Amino acid sequence: MTIFERIIQREIPASIVYEDDLCIAFHDINPLAPVHILLVPKKPVPCIDALEEEDKVLIGHLFLVISKIAAQNKLENGYRVIANNGPDACQTVDHLHFHILGGKQLPDKLS
Ligand code: 5GP
Repeated sequence: MTIFERIIQREIPASIVYEDDLCIAFHDINPLAPVHILLVPKKPVPCIDALEEEDKVLIGHLFLVISKIAAQNKLENGYRVIANNGPDACQTVDHLHFHILGGKQLPDKLS
């Protein structure tokens, strides 16, 4: 079981900012921006490459929730969404998640 499943199950605490039947969002424990929220589907999909046809509706839902979370956190001036997939992207938790970063001017280049 990943750390995110344990957060979903309430086995370990997290600062939860949004939850519905399909997903949960909470503050990243190691924030890289004034707002750094992780949006996680409750279905334990390990990564983007593990998505299946049946997940199309779920992914659409997640992006609508991202926009809602951004509005709730007053990110009207912009924000960045990142999903790391696999070792070259430094994915550390094998449960699909989207980083929502904002609250400051973010760098214009990805390193
Ligand atoms: P990844 O590198 O897999 O894309 O991102 C995993 C993220 O999960 C990292 O930004 C890391 O700080 C965050 N993280 C890891 N463990 C925990 C935890 O126990 N609680 C919270 N809130 N975030 C975590």
